[in-house]
Amino acid sequence: MRADGTRAIGEADLHVHSVVSDGTETPGALLAEAASIGLGAIALTDHDSTAGWAEAAAAVPGTGVALIPGMELSTREGFTSVHMLAYLVDPLDEGLIAETARIRESRLTRAEEIVRRISRDYDLSWDDVLAQTIEGTTIGRPHIADALVARGHVATRSAAFSGILHPRAGYAQPHYAPDPLTAVRLIRAAGGVPVLAHPGTRGAERVIPEERLAQLVDAGLFGLEVDHPENRPDAKPRLRQLAERFGLAVTGSSDYHGSGKPNRLGECRTSADVVARLVAEGTGSAPVLP
Ligand code: AMP
Ligand code: FE
Ligand code: FE
Ligand code: ZN
Repeated sequence: MRADGTRAIGEADLHVHSVVSDGTETPGALLAEAASIGLGAIALTDHDSTAGWAEAAAAVPGTGVALIPGMELSTREGFTSVHMLAYLVDPLDEGLIAETARIRESRLTRAEEIVRRISRDYDLSWDDVLAQTIEGTTIGRPHIADALVARGHVATRSAAFSGILHPRAGYAQPHYAPDPLTAVRLIRAAGGVPVLAHPGTRGAERVIPEERLAQLVDAGLFGLEVDHPENRPDAKPRLRQLAERFGLAVTGSSDYHGSGKPNRLGECRTSADVVARLVAEGTGSAPVLP
């Protein structure tokens, strides 16, 4: 029990994907898995979608695991894809609904185009890709990767990413995405709490420039996802320094995708203290407590 009478949520894994985007587990199964490893909470953060929230919430009772509703919003800075975690947003916010619909629509036409290009050189159809999705899935390259695996063209999702789906192979192309500043504003306008996802995957030299970070902070950025399996070790000290300088929270999360990626649920975690601060700032929706 905390001083204000509310029960602390505890340590959390704040970045988890389900079949609603490019994870391989259902939202309900994720809650059960989180319970089996003793996590206090998970945030469901499917790409550009809140469609898994209801199933995840329904699975909370009896697990002892709280659900923090979230989303990983696709953004783009020039040619670079940047992901913005959005916690506790209002899922009915009109601005957010319009923007995520636009991104998902663009993801769909872009995926169809990528498959068209690949199909000139490999036996692969759009139906092969659809077979890797469920109704309403936020489609992405991982589903094309799974279709390539199913067709026997590559052995694993990761092999597809480092081969056929790598930009240098010439098939891939980007989808529409707003810039990160627009995303932070959109998330705050929807009552949500924005955290810059895996900001160190390109190493210390390619961490976001201070002037740009300052703009995101002014617009309401809450934190940096410093502890993430794909942040390069040399980038972490730099990220901690930036968090300190700008008064940003430091989060830790696994970016679990089930069997779709090697990341293990709970391998990186956010402290109970930061979780409590994040929950206190979110007004668009509420955590679902066990
Ligand atoms: P897209 O959303 O189409 O741009 O594809 C990017 C997504 O693919 C990311 O959100 C990751 O979850 C996933 N991804 C990237 N690299 C890999 C990899 N090597 N193995 C499995 N999944 C990956
Ligand atoms: Fe993903
Ligand atoms: Fe991401
Ligand atoms: Zn992610």
